[in-house]
Amino acid sequence: MSKLKIGIAGAGIGGLAAAIALREMGQDVVVFEHTKQFLRVGADINLTPNAVRALDGLGADVAAAVRRTAARPTHRISRTWDNGEETSRLEMGDTAEQKYGAPQLTIHRADLLAALAAAFPAERVLFGKHVEHIQAEEQGATVSFDDGSSHKLDLLVGADGIHSAVRSAMFGQERPRFTGVVAYRAVVPAESLAGVPNLQAFTKWWGPTPESQIVTFPLNAGKDIFIFATTAQESWHLESWTTQGSVQELRDSYAGFHPDARVLLDACDEVLKTALYERDPLPAWASGHLVVLGDAAHPMMPFMAQGAGMAIEDGVVLARVLRGVTQSGGIPAALRRFEELRIERTSKIQLGSRGNNWLREGGNADWVYGYDAWKVA
Ligand SMILES: Cc1cc2nc3c(=O)[nH]c(=O)nc-3n(C[C@H](O)[C@H](O)[C@H](O)COP(=O)(O)OP(=O)(O)OC[C@H]3O[C@@H](n4cnc5c(N)ncnc54)[C@H](O)[C@@H]3O)c2cc1C
Repeated sequence: MSKLKIGIAGAGIGGLAAAIALREMGQDVVVFEHTKQFLRVGADINLTPNAVRALDGLGADVAAAVRRTAARPTHRISRTWDNGEETSRLEMGDTAEQKYGAPQLTIHRADLLAALAAAFPAERVLFGKHVEHIQAEEQGATVSFDDGSSHKLDLLVGADGIHSAVRSAMFGQERPRFTGVVAYRAVVPAESLAGVPNLQAFTKWWGPTPESQIVTFPLNAGKDIFIFATTAQESWHLESWTTQGSVQELRDSYAGFHPDARVLLDACDEVLKTALYERDPLPAWASGHLVVLGDAAHPMMPFMAQGAGMAIEDGVVLARVLRGVTQSGGIPAALRRFEELRIERTSKIQLGSRGNNWLREGGNADWVYGYDAWKVA
């Protein structure tokens, strides 16, 4: 049986998930990544049951590897910023696993990338390949890189993140929009927080304005607690996974919050700071033999914790719509099916994340957490 020659731009979460799934389905896959190697940058990735179920289908090794370092939040709790009132509580842990077939896991992004990278042949990930130019052709595409090399493909998948070069080649140079919101990320050893309630839960403190919130949850198998806080700040535009912020500024921004939240901020020694950017949902993700997925297709605010989950689901569903497709002529129809299956769900989540009201007063999480990417196509 002949195979499609598929190139994936971006060895991030969505690109690697797609690469593993497409290879499993018998396709000839190569991944182009512009960094020189995998880097241990960033921090938490939140994987709700829908994301973990999609990952589990990538193989027993991936499933075991993510569980080795991840934490399993016990609950999903909402509390009000000033009086500490609990407005919703969802059982996660074993209850979610029984209900949805997979638990919620929280994991360092680098550990998730390592688990995915180990399940794909290392020689098929080409580092130092920055996508510079894409030539769409009748039966495929040729992608060129800043090192002067190029590859001719049956299909090019743009999994190259929020500033996707593939997306720009397909739909023009529209840039992500600054949301007026900044995010602080910090990690604190759990042992330094003895006595703080619900440390092993995912807790969201809803602030006085929609942009103001603090989320805390376990990381590194529960040994650390991760803090993710957002607030409006028009003056800071720098988008970065490595820029240090001011711990004092972090504490000042949430000075009026309940002592149970503030005690976590008081325990921080250092904090990362970034501006948050997003885009509107796209009406189409494919054009001929080009397609985008993950943040390249639908970068979103973090308030539903679905950015990585949607990218992993995209990768699985893309592989499934292409299974059995052996001639490049069959690709456009498969990509139309991919759009039909994915755009409505991800657009709803993109807009829901912008609205930032998800599970504030409880509600039914099944349409998000109960989705099974391995069954939709
Ligand atoms: C370095 C980094 C750290 C992050 N840390 C966190 C975090 O701590 N918490 C969190 O919630 N989210 C983090 N994210 C974002 C998160 O991974 C995504 O929002 C989500 O997982 C969707 O994944 P994705 O695969 O679509 O995009 P990404 O995970 O962003 O992956 C995109 C990949 O494409 C590569 N790339 C970009 N442009 C090109 C190009 N022109 N040519 C070739 N390759 C290219 C990037 O280097 C990256 O590997 C991080 C992203 C990056 C790139």
